[in-house]
Amino acid sequence: MSQATDTDVVREDGIIDSVSGPVVTATDLDARMNDVVYVGDEGLMGEVIEIEGNLTTIQVYEETSGVGPGEPVENTGEPLTVDLGPGMLDSIYDGVQRPLDVLESKMGTPFLDRGVDAPGIDLEATWEFTPTVSEGDELEAGDVIGEVPETESITHRVMVPPDSEGGAVDSIEAGEFTVEETVATLDTGEEIRMRQEWPVREARPAVDKETPTVPLVSGQRIQDGLFPLAKGGTAAIPGPFGSGKTVTQQQLAKWSDADIVVYVGCGERGNEMTEVIEDFPELEDPQTGKPLMSRTCLIANTSNMPVAARESCIYTGITLAEYFRDMGYDVALMADSTSRWAEAMREISSRLEEMPGEEGYPAYLAASLSEFYERAGKFENINGTEGSISVIGAVSPPGGDFSEPVTQNTLRIVKTFWALDSDLAEKRHFPSINWNESYSLYRDQLDPWYRENVAEDYPEVRQWAIDVLDEEDELQEIVQLVGKDALPEDQQLTLEVARYLREAWLQQNAFHDTDTFCSPEKTYRMLQAIRTFSDEAFSALDAGVPVEEISSIDAAPQLNRMGVAEEWEEFIGDLEDDMESQLRELY
Ligand code: ADP
Repeated sequence: MSQATDTDVVREDGIIDSVSGPVVTATDLDARMNDVVYVGDEGLMGEVIEIEGNLTTIQVYEETSGVGPGEPVENTGEPLTVDLGPGMLDSIYDGVQRPLDVLESKMGTPFLDRGVDAPGIDLEATWEFTPTVSEGDELEAGDVIGEVPETESITHRVMVPPDSEGGAVDSIEAGEFTVEETVATLDTGEEIRMRQEWPVREARPAVDKETPTVPLVSGQRIQDGLFPLAKGGTAAIPGPFGSGKTVTQQQLAKWSDADIVVYVGCGERGNEMTEVIEDFPELEDPQTGKPLMSRTCLIANTSNMPVAARESCIYTGITLAEYFRDMGYDVALMADSTSRWAEAMREISSRLEEMPGEEGYPAYLAASLSEFYERAGKFENINGTEGSISVIGAVSPPGGDFSEPVTQNTLRIVKTFWALDSDLAEKRHFPSINWNESYSLYRDQLDPWYRENVAEDYPEVRQWAIDVLDEEDELQEIVQLVGKDALPEDQQLTLEVARYLREAWLQQNAFHDTDTFCSPEKTYRMLQAIRTFSDEAFSALDAGVPVEEISSIDAAPQLNRMGVAEEWEEFIGDLEDDMESQLRELY
């Protein structure tokens, strides 16, 4: 948050009229919508959300107990902005981009005290800046002018701010700079620094939004194999307690092929967020062996933090994501959970005595959700690079009831749905993503990529698996009534094949060194092996071999070892040969 560092802001005082939790009204405040204000003697940060005549309504990002009528309100004259520049990665922020570690050292507690402000990026640290343009070069808004090794894994690209008019480079030099020192000047007199500010409620500009055609590879078979997310796509994941939401999200943060991860912990219980704050810094980026935090930025706003800051944390997160997108990176943003975010909106709306919509949520719930997800996408940036933001929003419907407004409105927007299922988790089927309820609308647009980069018949093999699983689902109903043995032999065999699909392919152990990540190639080959078993088994059945004999060949149970097999290419090849010869021997 940048206001604390601005010295030249206009301050027009108003007087507090009333205080109702996070909502404060003030009179005589000269302000515009969305201006950031400092409320009360302690100077609590807030934002103007309504102006009616002389009465201004403010949502305050901090606990307001003890603040009362008559105290002053100062206007900064600026909207809620974030600081952008080197130093954001490896950081943990609250909902208005105050770094938690800085606040902690200032306050001596991990919980924020009131009226404490801190810049979003360190203003004193120096960074090694190497120019990528030369004197005389013509620059436009958004152009990259140099690079900074921000962390072990990420090069920060310093850009001309998006609202600059551009110009020719007058001077630019390599060296060590703080984010506030000038690194380049343009012939227009504009001085360019590494630090930029951007209002969080406004999307950063881009030239064009394109149809995403490349998957965000997650290394998780059920996700990549059946319900892929595109780089630049949107996904929702419901998280009933104990269903594996945390593990699923951590797997995505660790293994997905995004360059940058922005994790917004929004309104979950304090201890859950503490877990994330403690876990993430310990995680290793399996692709580089470096700490995962070197490509991650955490925003933490737990349920015991003020509700208005929870409302803003989503916007803070997506603005940071857009800034990295502008550098040409693929960013994955995880928001956990959008339900708590919507509840924050509901609370503020009810304090404002707005007309409630469904279940007390404001009538603009759908609009706010879609505005947020709209900021995801694959973009052509204004500097000509391409970048993407994939948004994965967790929803936590009370009682797991998907018919409630937040889940319903989210499902209308997102194109991938990974339905975590507590029944599967109870049966220890992990990841507990329910294949009957989940979906991905990206399959068709990603298929050309899969055909070209994995296997020409990838979509067909996947469709085969989907058909078998669907058939199993239908047969299960009959099995429950009359038992498996009452089924015709071919249907019994289908159940056998489906069982291998579930156990050997859909199940994946996040805690096994090898199985934790599965490349798209391995995902495909494992599926092919199960299909080989299926083809050979049905040929044997056609030749008159009883299903019991088919099921009892030695080789088939080896299918369950494919996931953990290190030399998987060889393992799967040998296994296919064994299954084929053992089944052919039966007739
Ligand atoms: P939630 O966050 O939904 O409460 P967790 O993500 O903590 O649930 O998962 C609960 C437990 O389920 C984990 O501790 C782990 O034992 C198991 N689990 C979840 N996902 C997986 C997975 N992909 N592989 C193996 N075990 C898993």
